[in-house]
Amino acid sequence: MTSERMEFRTEVKQLLDLMIHSLYSHKEVFLRELISNASDAIDRARYESLTNSTILEGGGAWKIKLSIDKDAGTLTISDNGIGMDHDEIIESLGTIARSGTKEFLETLKRVDAKDNPELIGQFGVGFYSSFMVADRITVISRRAGTKDDKAIKWESTGDGTFTVEEVKKDSRGTDVVLHLREEEKIYLSEWEVRSVVKKYSDFIEHPIVMDVEKEVDSEIKKGEKVKIKEEETLNSMKALWLKDKSEVAAEEYNDFYKHISHDFHPPAKVVHYRAEGTSEFASLMFIPSVAPVNMLYRDFKYGPMLYVKRVRIMDHCEDLIPQYLRFVQGIVDSSDLPLNVSREILQNNRQVDIIKNSLTKKIIDTFEEMKENEYDEYLKIYKEFGRVLKEGIHFDFSRRETIADLLLFATTRSEEGKFRTLKEYVDDMKEGQDEIYYIVGSSLADAANSPYLEAFRQKGFEVIFMTDDIDDFIFNGFDYKNKKFHSITRGDISLDKEKTVQIEETRKKYEKLIDLIKGTLADDVKDVRLSGRLTDTVCCLVADEGDLDPTMERLLKAMGQEVPQIKRILELNPTHPLFSAMNKAFEADEKSEELKEYIRLLYDQALVLEGSKPKDPAAFSKAIAKLMVENANRS
Ligand code: ADP
Repeated sequence: MTSERMEFRTEVKQLLDLMIHSLYSHKEVFLRELISNASDAIDRARYESLTNSTILEGGGAWKIKLSIDKDAGTLTISDNGIGMDHDEIIESLGTIARSGTKEFLETLKRVDAKDNPELIGQFGVGFYSSFMVADRITVISRRAGTKDDKAIKWESTGDGTFTVEEVKKDSRGTDVVLHLREEEKIYLSEWEVRSVVKKYSDFIEHPIVMDVEKEVDSEIKKGEKVKIKEEETLNSMKALWLKDKSEVAAEEYNDFYKHISHDFHPPAKVVHYRAEGTSEFASLMFIPSVAPVNMLYRDFKYGPMLYVKRVRIMDHCEDLIPQYLRFVQGIVDSSDLPLNVSREILQNNRQVDIIKNSLTKKIIDTFEEMKENEYDEYLKIYKEFGRVLKEGIHFDFSRRETIADLLLFATTRSEEGKFRTLKEYVDDMKEGQDEIYYIVGSSLADAANSPYLEAFRQKGFEVIFMTDDIDDFIFNGFDYKNKKFHSITRGDISLDKEKTVQIEETRKKYEKLIDLIKGTLADDVKDVRLSGRLTDTVCCLVADEGDLDPTMERLLKAMGQEVPQIKRILELNPTHPLFSAMNKAFEADEKSEELKEYIRLLYDQALVLEGSKPKDPAAFSKAIAKLMVENANRS
């Protein structure tokens, strides 16, 4: 076969461009990525060999070999893993962008990549990171179990194209040859390579070996030294998760975390334990200190790595952790699951359920402990993950109150920058208050300045400020300690019984005027009624019970989502003097144009108060100016 030249896919091109021109200061991560790929390839071969021993080709001594060639200026990473055939190599190293690449590039577009080089580390952009140190890469690979003349050579200088051709290769697996850039020749140093392996890949469970130069006593001439090359294993291969907690240093945890997560920041908390009894497994979980940038994307891959008796089965086992804890990273090594476990088996497996339950409990317990004993630390991670944790209230029925107790809120009573818990809220509830009130806002300031709060402030009823996009969805209808959550911009609210009677009397008295208002605004509002929630403000718009909260509606619209037109309810303040003044005008001439104009102005004011625009801003301004003139002339 002759050599074929092919184009990289657009996303890959963009990624390469970024890698080559990046100012990333930890270029050595390329080695971590290549070793990790080699280790994965060995895991896959080992896993496949369980059912098909021919792929072993007679030898199963797994290893990853690093070779330095100072003359050629190359560093080669070789493995005897699964290898790639012609189509796989084209797919994996050129046309299929690694999952997460798109999000990665989008994130980079939003933030300036030059100021945030650590993003590269956070995403761990895999194979392509090698172009940070190499100006040409040659990959020679042979799929385990295929003929020795069916190997493939892939080569690229990272300029937008790559070539592939068929070659011969005796051993199965992959060699990645890096032709190092002039300024990156440091990776030809044994010492440097050794220290990078130690730093990032010490716990890789397959031996990473290198031929190192050693001085030994000469066997021929006594007393003389000679230099020989000897293969040495560079990593300790400790399966950290199987060790006892007391034997592991904080540094080791941090390094291991970096290795599995590609996260640059040390984890906020390590949860390491072993379960025995109905289920036997070891687990090493990490709560990160910084949320991954793509945590809120739909295709965010989550779940711990799954090992069965030290054999790596899969990278992300979503069945082992609830989605609302998807930020947690780690590893689970089970002794009970079968080695040939498939996704289908995992979905309905009792052992998997037991492990999931145990992990969930441990992590929630860890949060509780942190909240009690390390509040400042807790606050930091809460700010990162609170938004996701809240989803558990909706999705994990049996733990909803436990999760609710982990939440922190700014409220009308919290001091600036401080937070309140739901327990504190309920404990401090006033006599006569039997619901938990909240208001949704696009920001804290937006929520705190809402005119809807006035009656609540006056009565001393605390209102929680909700500013996350999912808040209304989660809390609308949620019960905490038998107290219902109620959005103060939705449904009917009566803050005290006496007022309810008074409202009913006023309603009867002004029935006709209210009907006229209803009729005049029939195209805009669903209903007009007297309000128990206003004290100074003359009117406001509220959502009907069960309808979308108006702030949510505006947020969704701002995000470009289609939202159906929902008519709201206009609430009037029965004690406001404007109301009796309008009634006077009504009694004088119920058909007057002036009265109709007042009614429309009333509605426009309600729109302005909730932060929307009047229906016709020009007409609104004209009407106000007219009123001002009339009033000024009168006095
Ligand atoms: P990732 O490893 O996260 O998938 P990479 O860009 O590093 O992303 O690698 C892309 C794909 O190329 C891998 O998923 C794997 O299928 C293949 N690959 C890379 N290195 C090797 C290797 N040494 N042996 C076999 N396959 C490999």
